[in-house]
Amino acid sequence: MQKIIQKVTSFFSSKSEESSPCSHSEDCHIIPRSEHGISRSQIDKGALDVLYGLKRAGYEAYLVGGAVRDLMLGIEPKDFDIATNAEPEQIKRVFKSRCRLIGRRFRLAHVHFGRNIIEVATFRGDGEGASSKVSRKELNHTRAMDGAGKLVRDNVYGTIEEDVWRRDFTVNCLYYDIKNYTVVDYTDAMADLKSGQLRLIGDPETRYREDPVRMIRAIRFAAKLGFEIEESTKAPIYEMGALFKDVSHARMFEEVLKLFHGGAGVEVLSQLRQFGLFQYIFPQTNELLEDDEDEFVEKLIIEALKSTDARIQSGKGVNPSFLFAAMLWEPMLDRMDDHLEEGATHQDALYAAANDVIGAQISATAIPKRFTAQMREIWSLQFRLPRHSGARAQKLREHVRFRAAYDFIGVRVSAGEQELAKVFDWWTEYQEQNPVDQVAFANDLHNRNTKRKPRRGRNPYRQRKDA
Ligand code: ATP
Ligand code: MG
Repeated sequence: MQKIIQKVTSFFSSKSEESSPCSHSEDCHIIPRSEHGISRSQIDKGALDVLYGLKRAGYEAYLVGGAVRDLMLGIEPKDFDIATNAEPEQIKRVFKSRCRLIGRRFRLAHVHFGRNIIEVATFRGDGEGASSKVSRKELNHTRAMDGAGKLVRDNVYGTIEEDVWRRDFTVNCLYYDIKNYTVVDYTDAMADLKSGQLRLIGDPETRYREDPVRMIRAIRFAAKLGFEIEESTKAPIYEMGALFKDVSHARMFEEVLKLFHGGAGVEVLSQLRQFGLFQYIFPQTNELLEDDEDEFVEKLIIEALKSTDARIQSGKGVNPSFLFAAMLWEPMLDRMDDHLEEGATHQDALYAAANDVIGAQISATAIPKRFTAQMREIWSLQFRLPRHSGARAQKLREHVRFRAAYDFIGVRVSAGEQELAKVFDWWTEYQEQNPVDQVAFANDLHNRNTKRKPRRGRNPYRQRKDA
């Protein structure tokens, strides 16, 4: 974080005075090419093609959002978003079969370059200004709020000056102009970038009401960039988490993935808890955290997030089912205890507990079916991996979810389940052998894990701190 701010600060101090006033309107600044440090070589080739394609067709075209912010901070952008005055159908006419129009609530164009997709958004307008081409009736049709002030549709198009006020944070509101390679700043974003602040544009409470996901975005960017959330942007968050219930569960699932798969999951968790938002995202896990005497649940999810963060930072893939399996493991074990107490068999208890916990979680976030199936596999393998002798070993090793399940055993060991260390080490060693040696290794009587642990605790299959 310090490094990031120093970089922006030194960029400022090494340059001439202030950026020049803007030709767009009096309230903005234009940062010339010589002063912003963004070069076209840092911009994705597909994004450049889209920018130039729009420009050649006579439209305004800007790189916006996270890409400009991240390039200014010396971070490699995750994606390259573009804003233009061309309307979706006009964008489609420019890029023809490459272009698909998507979204109802917020209509966008996707321009495809193989697997690379560049998202192009038409400037959003407020529908009030002279620039708006729609009648009041049409406006109601294209832009709509529900009774609580939530924006349920926003397809009124406008000018760049209007578009600015529809964006979320000032630092996400810099426009790189392909016409002359300048950066346009309407919201004093550069000052916030320099001081490391996340500031919502407009009245924070209204902006959160329009779209509660902005609260999650504040935490995501604060964690990712190491920025502070500015006071007035921060204050309403403590009070407004209940609004998440109005966000579609499918969108919540996507946002939760972005939160925890951004490489700063441990910090995200800490901030979500600080702001009292975690309870709305993983209610069952939160309940256990509140009553977590030996802090085991906390250690477990922190270890899981540390392992996910490390994978992301070293460029490895991550799987949503691992995240959800880890977050919901302890709630699942608790439910399993209940079913065992009621006399269910181990298999039945596991199956029913998984149903209960997944069923309760989807009141907060959706979990697509393919991931719930994978979560069940990871959970089930937690009970199967400790029994690895003979022919079982190879069968388990070939299980599609072996690696995730093995990693999760590792997480549990790091969180303090020492009795699992032997199991984890055994599998680590097994994987290091060549296939022929693996058979001998699995059959080696000395390594055979024949002694079952004495059954203690409420759940005999539960190998944790109380076992
Ligand atoms: P990331 O690094 O995650 O891509 P980003 O800032 O680019 O960060 P995107 O979700 O890609 O975020 O969105 C692109 C831009 O669109 C944002 O920078 C912001 O200007 C605007 N935006 C996105 N979501 C919202 C929202 N919910 N409310 C207002 N503006 C938004
Ligand atoms: Mg982006």
